[in-house]
Amino acid sequence: MKKEHTLLTDELEGKLDIVEIISGYLPLRRKGPGYEGVCPFHQDDGASLNIYPENQTWLCSGRCAVSRRLDKLAPANRGDATSFVARIEGISFGDAVRKLAVRCGLAPRNNRIDVGRGLIDSPGLRQTRKAMAAARKIPGLSGQTAPTLPYFPELEDPDLKTGHLAYKGRLARPGYLGASMYRRYATSAQPRPGLVIALHATLQGHCQIEYPDGERKILDSLGMHDAGDVIWTDSGQASAVIKDVITRAHSEVEVFGVSTRGFCLLNLPGVDELSWCWPREPLEAGGGSRPLYYQTGPSETDVGGILLESFSVEGKLLPQYLDISGVTVPVTPVERNGRSHKERLDQISG
Ligand SMILES: [Zn+2]
Repeated sequence: MKKEHTLLTDELEGKLDIVEIISGYLPLRRKGPGYEGVCPFHQDDGASLNIYPENQTWLCSGRCAVSRRLDKLAPANRGDATSFVARIEGISFGDAVRKLAVRCGLAPRNNRIDVGRGLIDSPGLRQTRKAMAAARKIPGLSGQTAPTLPYFPELEDPDLKTGHLAYKGRLARPGYLGASMYRRYATSAQPRPGLVIALHATLQGHCQIEYPDGERKILDSLGMHDAGDVIWTDSGQASAVIKDVITRAHSEVEVFGVSTRGFCLLNLPGVDELSWCWPREPLEAGGGSRPLYYQTGPSETDVGGILLESFSVEGKLLPQYLDISGVTVPVTPVERNGRSHKERLDQISG
């Protein structure tokens, strides 16, 4: 891929030295061109952990690899410096990014105090956010699936832009879902939202998409829709209320990024991975729910489902969003309650 097509910069990654970072946690020995050590993620009586400085990655070839082979939802047995820090510290990937960005001098030392309102649009913070976005790659999104039945004609979105989030097809309302439907949604290969990192203007238009796990795919751009510009959020700047469609329990979760069309990047409950979740339909478009179903375990009957009930983000970051149904919804600045989109829309229209 040509460099000029790459919008995801490697600024943070370029500043990280995986050997230096990992040797801060455990002793490493030279082995060939790389290093080895005792894997901290399983009871390792050898030296299963390998560090490859040339591509800045780590790999456990011991029990972590076996677990991963047996269960694709087991924690990844390989990754980069950021994923290593997240796992060993028991913190979220976003917090690991922040920690490392601070360490490299790309982010202010005390995030919560320094990232005040006056700084939100500062060039330094924009740069920091860009660097964080570049490094925000989460392994293990493979189980993510979604009910996406096309209910609108699939037309190429002329607004498809590099740097924007894109999704394939229209996200339909599945109506009543029985067990067989859960299985179907959980096991079929459903398109998932990803960042457009390149547009190839050939006879047949193609776009290159990057998913949160770092996987990249070139897809026919016909039928790909623009899900909006992505705003990467810092800790505490955005949260979402999600509803478990099976237990009907509500919970508040951290949001790592939000698109101007209301997609939120968050951890799916019970799964150690990030996923872009879509909002409910606005009232004008029917007000229906658009649940996201995903696999939570090795069996195809291990299915989770959530609804993104509402999200709140600092108003300065996202003054309004255009719902994927085509309705523009103003966002109330800095409100962290559990109001649904429907309630918001009722208030706006009332
Ligand atoms: Zn291991």
